[in-house]
Amino acid sequence: MLEVDFHVHSLFSLCGLHTVLELVARAHELGMKGFAVTDHGRTIGGRLTSVFFERFVSPDPQIAVLKGIECNVLDEQGGIDLPHEYLKFMDIVLCGIHPNFPKGCSKQICTDSLIAVIEKNPQVDCITHPNDDAYPIDYGVLAQVAARHGVALELNNSKILYARSTEDEAQKLLVACGEQGCRIAVNSDTHTIHELGDDRSVAPLLRETGFPRELIVNRDAAAAFAFIEERRKLKQ
Ligand SMILES: [Zn+2]
Ligand SMILES: [Zn+2]
Repeated sequence: MLEVDFHVHSLFSLCGLHTVLELVARAHELGMKGFAVTDHGRTIGGRLTSVFFERFVSPDPQIAVLKGIECNVLDEQGGIDLPHEYLKFMDIVLCGIHPNFPKGCSKQICTDSLIAVIEKNPQVDCITHPNDDAYPIDYGVLAQVAARHGVALELNNSKILYARSTEDEAQKLLVACGEQGCRIAVNSDTHTIHELGDDRSVAPLLRETGFPRELIVNRDAAAAFAFIEERRKLKQ
């Protein structure tokens, strides 16, 4: 189980089912230390409100609720749907390719689009699910650029759990990150409550590939919170 899960959707994402308070209660039950609420950017229907970003505080002193977003890649030039008005309240900015992006693009176009996101948006801390069968990525090239910018690539539990990608692809991603010294974040991509903090579909892959533990930014709560603080200056 993850002590801190950086990728969790609430019902403010069209595809999420639960309130933030339900997620806090579940995190408490599990003995987690915190999680990031990362609802989708508005391009695919995320309802992002000033009340959450400006006013919400965790009601549970044992559970840190980090505020974030999972932005969408808009084009091949590095455009993303980050609502800048809330940036100063955000602890973490995720970004990934989602169905608003044309399907059938080449590996070169998908890879170059994510590289452009990293190079043009220093606020982005983590690229979500680079291993998505619909959007092929050159992991080695992406990992090299991400490492240079201190950006983490995600090892996404749900993509394996729900067979949206294969274990083989996830292992290739891990090998590339290891070779390039690129950090990763291990996340659940929770949409329903039982998924919170779950890393059981990907933990064996970390062992099998001998992935260096020190390259996992959320390997424990202290490392996770240190990553957030390291990146905070890029959001001001
Ligand atoms: Zn996503
Ligand atoms: Zn997500």
